[in-house]
Amino acid sequence: MVERELDVPIVLPEEDGVECAQLLLDVLHQHNGVHVAQIDFSGGVLHLHYDPNLLEPDEVEGIVDDLGIRLGARMRHCTLALGGVSGASRCGNCALNLERELYAIPGVHKVSANPAARVVGVHYQEAEALASVERRITEMGYEVTDRRTEAQLPFWKRNIGLVWAGLTLLFLILGILAERLVPIPAFPQLYVVFFVVAYLTGGHDGAREALRDLRHGALNVDFLMIASAIGAAAIGEWAEGATLLFLFSLSGALEEFAMDRTRNAIESLTALRPTEATVRLGGQERRVPIEAVRPGDVVVVRPGEQVTVDGVVVRGQTSVDQAAITGESIPVSKGLGDEVFAGTMNQEGAVDVRCSKEAKDSTLAKVIDLVAEAQSERAPTQRLIDRFAHPYAVGVLVTVTLVLLVGVFLLERPFMDVFYRAITLLVVASPCALVISTPASILSAIAAGARNGVLFKGGVHLENAATIDTVAFDKTGTLTTGRPELLDIVVFDSLSETEFLRLVASAERRSEHPIARALVRAAQTRDLALVEPEHFQSMPGQGVRATVEGRRLLVGNERLLLGQSDGNGGRPLPPEVAALQAEGKTVIFVSDDHHSARLLGVLAVADMVRPIAAQAVRELRSIGVKNIVMLTGDHRLVADRIAGELGIDQVHADLLPVGKVQVVKDYLDQGVRPAMVGDGVNDAPALALATVGIAMGAAGTDVALETADVVLMSDDLSKLPFALRLSRRSRRIIAQNMAFALGMMVFLALATLSVGIPLPLGVVGHEGSTLIVVLNGLRLLRTK
Ligand code: ADP
Ligand code: MG
Repeated sequence: MVERELDVPIVLPEEDGVECAQLLLDVLHQHNGVHVAQIDFSGGVLHLHYDPNLLEPDEVEGIVDDLGIRLGARMRHCTLALGGVSGASRCGNCALNLERELYAIPGVHKVSANPAARVVGVHYQEAEALASVERRITEMGYEVTDRRTEAQLPFWKRNIGLVWAGLTLLFLILGILAERLVPIPAFPQLYVVFFVVAYLTGGHDGAREALRDLRHGALNVDFLMIASAIGAAAIGEWAEGATLLFLFSLSGALEEFAMDRTRNAIESLTALRPTEATVRLGGQERRVPIEAVRPGDVVVVRPGEQVTVDGVVVRGQTSVDQAAITGESIPVSKGLGDEVFAGTMNQEGAVDVRCSKEAKDSTLAKVIDLVAEAQSERAPTQRLIDRFAHPYAVGVLVTVTLVLLVGVFLLERPFMDVFYRAITLLVVASPCALVISTPASILSAIAAGARNGVLFKGGVHLENAATIDTVAFDKTGTLTTGRPELLDIVVFDSLSETEFLRLVASAERRSEHPIARALVRAAQTRDLALVEPEHFQSMPGQGVRATVEGRRLLVGNERLLLGQSDGNGGRPLPPEVAALQAEGKTVIFVSDDHHSARLLGVLAVADMVRPIAAQAVRELRSIGVKNIVMLTGDHRLVADRIAGELGIDQVHADLLPVGKVQVVKDYLDQGVRPAMVGDGVNDAPALALATVGIAMGAAGTDVALETADVVLMSDDLSKLPFALRLSRRSRRIIAQNMAFALGMMVFLALATLSVGIPLPLGVVGHEGSTLIVVLNGLRLLRTK
């Protein structure tokens, strides 16, 4: 069991600080990945002992955020592109070594190294830690490179492996010519020179990898290959050894070439990053570098141009192709007040956009970071294989030694024969195909997802998503559009209706809950002047508490009203309430925040069910999800009506966020593997706890991007079955790959031991299967 410690500086709300803290601890204690969670109230620190494989520092931050607690400082993370890795397929140990070494650096909280993807992801708290990480990586013989500049390198530099393989072939042919066909009498040993050169061009990369791991006391596949080649030379079979190294370097280069196609997913996103924007400044338009655009600046976007910033349309009308972010290429119409995203393509209209985020914080930038980070996370299957790489290599060496001893001393075969077989065995028993089988598939799947607006935040989540048997939906914003309409206002106080709405909307101004937004929108369409609340506190899953113009108000559900000691002065609820609820409307209660919370009035809102939701539910069933559930903090009547409409099996209504967590926890305890689907507005704790947490409509909401395991960028629910299908297909392809790789290895090894096969054939079989496995993984890129 791995355990890491983490200190998160937090700022508890003044009021209810203790309850909030208790809630946070409750939620964290429910999580399997949390071993110890404590809060030091005097220092304002959340102290955690946790398993980094089960819980991410990001998730902790998301949970903290969602419970209305502010973070003192955020964990930072960074994905570094790794250079100086060759033949990733052969390098299981380097991931383990890198991770171990980097973990040891103080201030580093999480490291995930994936040499197959050429990336290392680091979570850290102080900037110095990152510098140390980079230094350590260089010391270990790798380079920290910049992906963007790498993509711009000329073809031969990017594919330097192919060049080396070509040179190796050249000198191999020269060597064979000089040895067998046209010996030069004046220099009969010339062929050895050619072969030595071929050994150098074909073997230097492998030798470097072998040495690197050897220094950490680990044997890898490169080592086996180099050893075989040297063995071949030792028995005078230079040509065989050089052929071996040629095939080895060629297939390595071809694998690289194929793997690049998956890695390119990020480069193509990176290429979408705008570099300049046209800013409107005092009647003038000026081109400025994108970094110089500040939130609040107004940016001009002309027809056919790329949208350069995240922001809100303040003038004009257009439609935008948001495929870069959401994977949905049907243009979305955008008018006044609509949100647009950097990197998307403006169509026919010209618009002015008020920038809301700096370039480095744009949704596109986040997506790029996420995909890069996802690629750095090795999937559990890959971890397992990596862990066995070393003992396996030792096992192979022992077996080969045994074969040698038995062959020479027991069976009394000629030494050369036995030695040749032993070397062939070394080669065919190398688990290259097995090592690359998983990353090739996972990286392709992650890339395919990203293209369709589905971000898997790592191979783990892809593998987990394939095993889901229950899908729990949050209601508001997920099954419904999350844009409720205000339908009724009933005031029980002497206030006028508009005055009442103005107070309530002002109280809700700081809340990001869809209901709050609906109330604010309704007030704005009535041209009511909202005021800033003097005090504001969000009560997740219940409502808000705010002071507006000296009035202390509670706005929220029945629980919030009745939760006050002696809610509504002990009076029964007015009959209007039941009538509204019977119509399936969500009733919002507004009361005085005093001891006998007096009901001032109620508002009724209703939210439309997403048109595609029923179909998504059906599709989920058809791909084998057994149980479909709805979790909501809303009233049972509303919940039941919607569940009935969609064909959902089971409803849990009137839940608090902790209640949602509890439901998820109960499923986990029963051995069910639930996915939780939410919009990321106060369902982060449940998302974090579920086997797979899926956030939808994430373009624009940061918490969802942080806490979820899988992110659907658009709010198109049909991406959910797609995501599950993609993960199931990946699992199938990984299984095929592993079966094929293992089968081929066993077959070749048995053939070598029994009938004996020529070494080059062994190499072709071995490398061929590696390439086939990579290509099979690439099929995932084309999942529809
Ligand atoms: P859901 O589970 O449907 O997504 P939430 O857990 O976010 O809903 O909220 C549950 C209930 O709490 C809502 O139905 C609403 O009655 C009330 N509520 C939550 N936040 C607010 C708010 N900002 N203003 C008014 N009511 C709220
Ligand atoms: Mg919700």
